[in-house]
Amino acid sequence: MESTLNTNTTDALSLRTRKDFPILDQEINGHPLIYFDNAATSQKPVQVLDAVRRYYEHDNANVHRGIHELSNRATLAYESARERTAQFLNARSSKEIVFTRGTTEAVNLVASCLGQSLKSGDKILITEMEHHSNMVPWQLIAQRTGAELLYLPVKDTFGELDLDQLDNLLTPDVRIFSFVHISNSLGTINPAKVLCAKARSVGALSFVDGAQSGGHYPVDLQDIDCDFYALSGHKIGGPTGIGALYAKGDLFNELPPYHGGGEMISEVTYDRPIFKEGPHKFEAGTPNMSGAVGLAAAMDYIDSIGRQAIYDHDRELAEYFYNEISKLPGTQVYGPKENRAGLVSFLLGGMHAHDLVTLADQKGIALRGGHHCTQPLMKKFGVTGTARASFYFYNNRQEVDRCLEVLEHIQKRFGDLE
Ligand code: PMP
Repeated sequence: MESTLNTNTTDALSLRTRKDFPILDQEINGHPLIYFDNAATSQKPVQVLDAVRRYYEHDNANVHRGIHELSNRATLAYESARERTAQFLNARSSKEIVFTRGTTEAVNLVASCLGQSLKSGDKILITEMEHHSNMVPWQLIAQRTGAELLYLPVKDTFGELDLDQLDNLLTPDVRIFSFVHISNSLGTINPAKVLCAKARSVGALSFVDGAQSGGHYPVDLQDIDCDFYALSGHKIGGPTGIGALYAKGDLFNELPPYHGGGEMISEVTYDRPIFKEGPHKFEAGTPNMSGAVGLAAAMDYIDSIGRQAIYDHDRELAEYFYNEISKLPGTQVYGPKENRAGLVSFLLGGMHAHDLVTLADQKGIALRGGHHCTQPLMKKFGVTGTARASFYFYNNRQEVDRCLEVLEHIQKRFGDLE
């Protein structure tokens, strides 16, 4: 295939950052590793690894309760990471940030806490393109409370939400509208600001699943004006097991607690606990201090590149991949053609996604195949799953060309177009 990517800026980010990711410099099955599974998890720069190591070598102790130097340092590092996260998302205050294990825990926290006041007759609105993380917690809460769970439809395989149906579904009995900012299986970028304004206009809360937008796209929460937003550290160069939940203004004070335990109380008697204010009420037990330190370092790293530059780079690679893979006979590509995020879901004619991904792995290429935790959406499209290539700033055009070459070869050898 001939390259149709006519920009020479696409590889500048890769050239600049590649040295910071030693993991990428290895062979898999005798071929140079090409890591295109970034939507599942990103690789970590040495700056993040160093920050975590430095924390453990110099500052580690338990936070908040100690009155000694190391505990003060650990507390400072942890609370500074909260400030950094607030700044990264342009929240108004660090009091609006709770550290979680990731996006999944953030959705569970809000669903469970809000669920305590939901009742039969209330409605929860999500969309048909949600990741299971932003679907199953709401299904559980709907089952428990008798609230009704509604789905805003996806129009077709181009992956746009059917916004014409929004007014019918988003009625004043909807308590919360929760939707994905960037779809992990389609690459659709949903109009978060518009959707949150719509939710507000009927008195519903809004929750934006930012797992795929946090470190991949310029995100300004004061501009989006959502009530909740969640991200996962491991998808933006940070460690696993740490993420953030934003709640606007005083919302954390209005919600009941999630987990009970140490750290989240101001006083306990045998009769009852009295809870701390704000984010601390939702962080029971010893928190993930080193994770928070690593997350803050990842945010520093991302901002040293620039989120607009990252988005432009990833989108260019994705549009190039989308256009080129579409030329192979029998290929089906999912999600929007333009204005998409940096990932592409596809099926090669006559091939199961798992076979395709297994064969690509033999050439050192890491793709993902399956339902991408959006099983109902795949069913709607009449497939059990797709293959997905997802890009980040350290990827480059040569890698995409090599991947396309391998996929073309696989399709010719193994694809059954009868
Ligand atoms: N939402 C979306 C859109 C995702 O892509 C993912 C991760 N694949 C999640 C939620 C869940 O994130 P985590 O597993 O980090 O909690």
